[in-house]
Amino acid sequence: MTNIYERLGVDTIINAKGPATRLTGSILRPEVAQAMVEASQHCVDLAHLQAAAGAYIAEVTGAQSGYVTDGAASGLMLAAAACIAGHDLAAQNRLPDTTGLKNEIIVARGHRNMYDHAVRTAGAKLIEVGVSDRNTGAGVRDAEPWEYVAEINERTAAVYCVVVPGNQPTLPEIVAAVAPHGIPIIVDAAGQLPPMSNLKRFIAEGADLVCFSGGKAIGGPQASGILAGRRDLVMSVAMQHLDMDTAPSRWNPPASLIDRNAIQGMPRDGIGRICKVGKEEIAGLVTALRLTLEDDASGALRAGWSRTIATVAEGLAGVNNATIAVRDDPERHPVPALALTLDEKALARDAEAVLIELECGSPPVYFEPGEVGSATLVVNPLCLKEGEPEILAGRIKDVLRR
Ligand SMILES: *Cc1c(COP(=O)(O)O)cnc(C)c1O
Repeated sequence: MTNIYERLGVDTIINAKGPATRLTGSILRPEVAQAMVEASQHCVDLAHLQAAAGAYIAEVTGAQSGYVTDGAASGLMLAAAACIAGHDLAAQNRLPDTTGLKNEIIVARGHRNMYDHAVRTAGAKLIEVGVSDRNTGAGVRDAEPWEYVAEINERTAAVYCVVVPGNQPTLPEIVAAVAPHGIPIIVDAAGQLPPMSNLKRFIAEGADLVCFSGGKAIGGPQASGILAGRRDLVMSVAMQHLDMDTAPSRWNPPASLIDRNAIQGMPRDGIGRICKVGKEEIAGLVTALRLTLEDDASGALRAGWSRTIATVAEGLAGVNNATIAVRDDPERHPVPALALTLDEKALARDAEAVLIELECGSPPVYFEPGEVGSATLVVNPLCLKEGEPEILAGRIKDVLRR
């Protein structure tokens, strides 16, 4: 029997890059795929499904409230919309037009990246602070907490920060400076799982809303994400995200998600309606999160990844024109990896050319390319299936023999 990709005429690839949107995210474990199939066979009230999933997210993050988004990026858009419009129905209807609303979101220049389209999509104007001297070789400093405070005024809707390790200032430093002014702090933690302790960490450090990807290392559906944070802000998210196409007399939102008594009427479809989340994604995300937490607690999660890397290393024994290094120190590598450093001189071509050769071969194989400039291809174990480490090693050996 053919599979869907064969019927569509699309080549499948061996993915040693790990879950990337460009390469269609992760490979769902059977239990997650099964949960999505099960969910697909019944209809439910979407708001009540979100409330149930949100309660689980609240439990595992330690936040007041949780919500399933269709990715970390749309979580950021919804978070910005919540901080701008709050529970004001008329303001929600106007977004992304923010005339007359507080719409400034403060961000360190060194935290900016192209995902902040999401924040701007809600209508926010980014107010940049700080100069990242340390990243230009011109000095040692970066944005400083007082610089955020200096920009706070009556138009400030939120502060936004990206918690990639090494980013400055750190979240606790930002919280210490900004929280006393009552400005909510939105955290982009899209790729910060594992370690799974980060689920609770940023909330505990004082973030008001935190976004994670569901489609990265926790192995949820590609178009899923986690939003966790303050109850009133998550309520605003739900008001602006859920489909509202019913009569106010029949509207029956779950009280844990939306407090009808706190608002003047029934919201209309809001800015979040463009990034709706299906029941299948919610079921898949919740299942992936539960299984990942279980396997993390038992040690099975990392052990599985380490085994995959060890199998790649074994397969690469005797490889020509390259050295291999296994990176499996949990302190330094939340996900174990294998680094393959090429002898570009002996190969008479650079690592970029080798990378292209591997991507264009059959089957195509993709690597983590971040260190290609230092002649190193990195293998990430997350999307390698049973049997693939051996094929991957064979392809590498083949290409490096020539
Ligand atoms: C991956 C990523 C995103 C986007 O996450 P999605 O779940 O794909 O929407 C946003 N911000 C950062 C820093 C990321 O690494």
